[in-house]
Amino acid sequence: YVRQLVVGVNERVPLLNGSYSTAINFDNAATTPPFHCVLRKIEEFCPWYSSVHRGTGYKSVTTSDWYEAAREEIKAFVHADEEKDILIYTKSTTEAINVLAHTLSQQDGRTVVLSSEMEHLANDLPWRNAFTTDYVAVDRSGRLVLANLEKKLRQYGGSVKLVAVTGASNVTGYMNPIHQIAAICHQYGAQLLVDGAQLVPHCPVDMKPHSSREHIDFLVFSAHKMYAPFGVGILIGPRKAFHDVSPLCKGGGAVKLVGRQFVDWDDSPYKEEAGTPNVIGVVALVAAIRLMTQLDVREIHDYERELTEYIMTGLSEIPGIRLFGRTRSGEDRVSLFSFQAEGLDHRAFAKMLSYEAGIAVRSGLFCAHPYVENLLGVTEKELNYYHKHQEARVPGLVRVSLGVYNTCREADVFLETVGHIIRHKDHYKQKYEALDSQA
Ligand code: PMP
Repeated sequence: YVRQLVVGVNERVPLLNGSYSTAINFDNAATTPPFHCVLRKIEEFCPWYSSVHRGTGYKSVTTSDWYEAAREEIKAFVHADEEKDILIYTKSTTEAINVLAHTLSQQDGRTVVLSSEMEHLANDLPWRNAFTTDYVAVDRSGRLVLANLEKKLRQYGGSVKLVAVTGASNVTGYMNPIHQIAAICHQYGAQLLVDGAQLVPHCPVDMKPHSSREHIDFLVFSAHKMYAPFGVGILIGPRKAFHDVSPLCKGGGAVKLVGRQFVDWDDSPYKEEAGTPNVIGVVALVAAIRLMTQLDVREIHDYERELTEYIMTGLSEIPGIRLFGRTRSGEDRVSLFSFQAEGLDHRAFAKMLSYEAGIAVRSGLFCAHPYVENLLGVTEKELNYYHKHQEARVPGLVRVSLGVYNTCREADVFLETVGHIIRHKDHYKQKYEALDSQA
């Protein structure tokens, strides 16, 4: 059945202009290729698009209808509260979190934001300076320590406004128990933001009604990681959180009336969406969501997890490979993990995979610097050294991240290639070091 699903999807996912058979994309956590139906939808929609909201022409009215109806469809995809939640379009997850940080920083009351040691920088840096920040600890294998969350919430004694954690790590693929975390946060009167950039494309997400203790207050994610193009990010949260604060991005479309001495802001979400929006991107995202729903996100998740476990098991049998993101039996995960090959630089290894076998992966710190530094046990002294001598070879990992269209055949090619490189390590090391020195 799994193979059938994949064949079905593959038919609709022409990768890299049809060179699918020769290129293997295991870098889906960065950006996914568009589904074929998404490309078709864009083509179909392009002759019809126009500026939203203000025009009276047929095209403008149709575009506005599409743009507004999409909000409800995207909200329904993650089971946001129909009544109480609003959806704000941004350009990315990063912008969505910045919008939220700007919004919450204008409210009185609680002043602390708890992020975690496993966050992407998008869910770390926007909180710094605007709030007193602290980080929920992760253990040595990279999992969030729930007891530490409780401890910090207790320690700050009612001054935590928000807990901002990732739904799934973009380095290890570990998923966080977001509903359990929500219940703990709400017990201490704190709200919860889930960074869904690596969760929503791979796993069913249910924000749950506001009446539930386990509901997710704020959710963010990006279209370009879920088979639609760049330029659309989603921020969902309670309407009341955006009341009475000024927006981060200011301009036309965000106001009711402006005088020389006053600005009368529009209601949210329009207040947060100044300027002409990316309607084509929104239409594309809806097309991707429709196909994901049709395929069944639960089945997508199960298939991807199975393929991930297959690759990880294969890698674990190759001497000299150290895996980051191994799961205990029954533990849930998304379809990405990282690894290190003994004696081979992560950058060189990623290049070898690409140049030798056309396999795209990512190497480095994956915009989660503190997390990877902890996983690798980089000391403060070493960090300061790298910081000071910018030419120094900063350590890092190689990341494999799968999408629903990836296949077992590709997994086998990947495993064979890694095995081959490791068996001929000295040869490849020399070759790529020579390449590096010519660069
Ligand atoms: N959070 C996580 C967990 C991510 O993986 C990413 C993308 N690498 C982001 C946030 C930022 O997403 P975007 O680049 O779309 O802003």
